[in-house]
Amino acid sequence: MIDLSADFPPRQWVCVPCGYNMIGEMPEVCPFCGARHDRFVSWDVGEETYRVAETPVADGVAQLRSRPRLGLEHACYRVETAGGPVWIDCPSAFNRTLDPVGHIFFTHKDFMGASNQYRAQWNAKVHIHAAETASPLAAMFPVDDAFAGDFTSHGLEAFHIGGHTEGFTVYLYDDILFACDYAFPPNGAMRLNPYGDSAGIARKGRRLLAIVRERTPRLVAGYNYVADGAEWLALFEGALDRAA
Ligand SMILES: [Zn+2]
Repeated sequence: MIDLSADFPPRQWVCVPCGYNMIGEMPEVCPFCGARHDRFVSWDVGEETYRVAETPVADGVAQLRSRPRLGLEHACYRVETAGGPVWIDCPSAFNRTLDPVGHIFFTHKDFMGASNQYRAQWNAKVHIHAAETASPLAAMFPVDDAFAGDFTSHGLEAFHIGGHTEGFTVYLYDDILFACDYAFPPNGAMRLNPYGDSAGIARKGRRLLAIVRERTPRLVAGYNYVADGAEWLALFEGALDRAA
């Protein structure tokens, strides 16, 4: 294997309990979950330990997750668009053997994973809502496109929803909605994400509900699940009603 380690920051740490990547000097405690530094591994040890595996979701769409599970890592989705492959969100583990993508589109700031390393390796462009970049958790991660509002790129339709985080954005590609952790789990216990502004998420979730009603996605791809679109819609209506 070619030694690329010189191209990457020698100091990057991965918190094993949560998967958050710390760039630069090792902090005493994880800024995301508060775990002590004896629970961190350096990124290269993480690369050997955690292998990112792809599971097909639909034609041209796959879910990527680390094995063994790395903390609270949120699933990443690879989408083969007409304009080339892209990711929605990013694995917490850096595996330099993964197939490259040209763009990484984030739903929100909480799990930017090893996006700085993938960006460096592939010269990929990182896209995230501008409001998310103000978070201290995102400060060390390079961003190429701090967007605002809705947009379309590579056949992905991006909808700025807000709520769980101010810049929270969902993506629609073909008949799949990528909603990360806006609401979970995908069963009768579904509730809106409890972190953040609870009144805001219930109010802003109404826009997401309207989009799902209008576009009727066949599948909803979440942070640790893939659900039937019609079932998800009914569960989401219930979660919004209970939150109101
Ligand atoms: Zn942590």
